[in-house]
Amino acid sequence: MVVIGGGNVAIDVARTAARVGSTGVTMFSLESRAEMPASADEIVEAEEEHIGIDNGWGPVRIVTENGKVTGVEFRKCVSVFDENRRFSPKFDDKTTKIVEADYVIASIGQAIDWGKLLEGTKVELKPNKGPVADAITYQTAEGDIFVGGDVFTGPRFAIDAIAAGKEGAISLHRYVQNGQSLVMGRLKRNYIPLNKDNVDLDGYDNIPRQKAVHSHDAAHSMAAAKSFRDTRGTFTPDQIKTEASRCLACGATYADENMCVGCGLCTTVCKFEAISLVRKYDEAGVDFRELKPHIVKNVLKRKVRIAARNITRPIDNLIHGGAPAQE
Ligand SMILES: Cc1cc2nc3c(=O)[nH]c(=O)nc-3n(C[C@H](O)[C@H](O)[C@H](O)COP(=O)(O)OP(=O)(O)OC[C@H]3O[C@@H](n4cnc5c(N)ncnc54)[C@H](O)[C@@H]3O)c2cc1C
Ligand code: SF4
Repeated sequence: MVVIGGGNVAIDVARTAARVGSTGVTMFSLESRAEMPASADEIVEAEEEHIGIDNGWGPVRIVTENGKVTGVEFRKCVSVFDENRRFSPKFDDKTTKIVEADYVIASIGQAIDWGKLLEGTKVELKPNKGPVADAITYQTAEGDIFVGGDVFTGPRFAIDAIAAGKEGAISLHRYVQNGQSLVMGRLKRNYIPLNKDNVDLDGYDNIPRQKAVHSHDAAHSMAAAKSFRDTRGTFTPDQIKTEASRCLACGATYADENMCVGCGLCTTVCKFEAISLVRKYDEAGVDFRELKPHIVKNVLKRKVRIAARNITRPIDNLIHGGAPAQE
């Protein structure tokens, strides 16, 4: 069996095919081994289950005989990305090969088919048919249509789709409440990661991310290859404690401006003093060193105002009656 693709989904497909009885399952990916989008752990596990991985090949055509698949013709892929790291595969058309196969599964992404779902709406589509929407509210050009998940971002992780679903639900809730703003107080996700290469981390928590114990022995791998159960190991009790106490060094803190009262308690929590409060003024204040002339000017103004009042108030009192002016 031939699986076309080099991502985590292609690995899932290949391993599943082998579990349901396919033999000689081999993945063909455009990318070199180092560039493969699949995660390193999954590649190793697939190989341990005798899934073949053939790098640097792009499909040209499915070869058939009497209406039945007999193989796939591939051509050599010499590079996958352009100088800006954009997907732009280049091929050597003279280097080709035909790989025999009874079955071919393409695992090279998903296309969007809207059917008639958006007919008559103002929703705009990008060239890949993905919808155009606001990145924070998920609102499309049709006010009451919100989108999120893979269809909006392209393939990502389940957690991204869940997060988008939650934010989309908040937008919908606000949309149906009269006078509510869709954007006020929303998390803008403009997170700028800390440049960790430029930080002296000595003295900080440097415990590495814990790795679950995974048996790489052949017997374990072949037992795993026959089962749909997750046979990967789990953390030991000690690893759980270590992982749970590990500082994520995320560098990200977010204060809800509507909730924060500026008490400063949070600054006492982080043992690395990553959190601090900064007083911000609506307009530029006066530098402490230049305070004197400003104070003198204001004192003079005040004296002039008091002197003027001392002159005008007795006259007012004479006219209207009342107590004599006092400093
Ligand atoms: C093989 C595979 C393995 C993956 N493994 C992982 C993994 O290990 N971890 C991880 O985090 N992510 C994984 N992902 C990615 C993850 O599944 C997706 O990122 C996530 O499911 C996206 O969620 P979604 O809600 O945007 O879309 P989907 O989960 O695709 O849901 C879209 C839903 O819309 C329905 N639908 C489509 N058209 C219509 C219509 N016209 N009317 C009504 N309903 C419609 C579909 O039936 C479907 O139920 C994997 C993906 C694949 C394909
Ligand atoms: S806020 Fe402090 S404790 Fe939290 S991750 Fe950042 S450095 Fe670590």
